[in-house]
Amino acid sequence: MPVSQLYKRGDSGLAIQEFVQRLQGLGLLDKDHSDSFDQALDDAVRHFQQQRGLLVDGIVGPHTIRALDEAHWVLGDRLLTYQVSHLLRGDDIVTLQKRLTEMGFAPGRIDGIFGRQTFLAVQDFQRNVGLGADGTCGPATLSALDRLAKTVQGGAPTALREQAALSRLGATPAGRIIVVDAGHGGPDIGLSTGLCELSEAEIAFDIATRIEGRLTALGASAFLSRPSDLDTELDEQTRAEFANQAGADLVISIHAESVDNAIANGVATYFYGTPTTHSTVGEQLAQLIQDEIVARTELLDGRVHDKTWDLLRWTTMPAVRVEIGYLSNPTDAARLADPGFRDAIADAIVIGVHRLFTEPA
Ligand SMILES: [Zn+2]
Repeated sequence: MPVSQLYKRGDSGLAIQEFVQRLQGLGLLDKDHSDSFDQALDDAVRHFQQQRGLLVDGIVGPHTIRALDEAHWVLGDRLLTYQVSHLLRGDDIVTLQKRLTEMGFAPGRIDGIFGRQTFLAVQDFQRNVGLGADGTCGPATLSALDRLAKTVQGGAPTALREQAALSRLGATPAGRIIVVDAGHGGPDIGLSTGLCELSEAEIAFDIATRIEGRLTALGASAFLSRPSDLDTELDEQTRAEFANQAGADLVISIHAESVDNAIANGVATYFYGTPTTHSTVGEQLAQLIQDEIVARTELLDGRVHDKTWDLLRWTTMPAVRVEIGYLSNPTDAARLADPGFRDAIADAIVIGVHRLFTEPA
């Protein structure tokens, strides 16, 4: 499918034909729909975007196209292999991960990405059923899965395993590895408005270093995902890989918001989740951080939300992203410009992390 263009209501052509077919395949659009981007297609696109945790705007751009492509795969359609340089993604992998989890294997988060953890779980499964443990999900592995899925029930859900892994570590942040991700950086200054002399990248880095200092004082190993300046932009996947390789227990990503009206304001915290699965510890941490920020500052409570953003979905440990204030709102912008306020935010986030470890769910 074409990837760089945006398609919306009123458009027509070959690409639209493909969107129609994909959405029909997902049961979101009538079988007799024409190839024009009309209101019914707009509705179907929005429905799909909502299901997938995408921005619901009825516009088919690169993210929606990628999600449509991932959604059409059914388990058995293709050979599933672990391709380190280009991980396979799709709904067939979601099905595979669910089945493995139901049977007590540990493919990691059910995220539709054939990563290392899923590869290891397939190998584990293959060894258990007497197949060659090559970690590739082909016809023999599929038929073994089909055979066993009908007879085996139970197994610890991902959520419980995630919770268990965290509690095994002990009840303080001391000794934890925590990656603090300052959003943007280098050529990517993030959002910037005339209301605050600092860019989003500068604010994020400032708050991240304040958090790092406090976590270190608590005995945790805190790592920043980037230096104060960068020569090139650092994408979300690279940041996630950094956290994965560091063996981090948690990832906290710092951003600020901006929209094209001056009224919107407040703080919101995001964790990994789709309509069918989510990170329970991620949600718990998001709520604790959100509560602490709202209690300690005047920021409006924009609440916590699940998202499938790349940093959240590529990290193998609980990860949250905090969007602190709106640079487009004069009051929030003035707050973010104040070092005392940024200190209060760092305090709130670190107390949220501390509570995650010290207070049982
Ligand atoms: Zn940002």
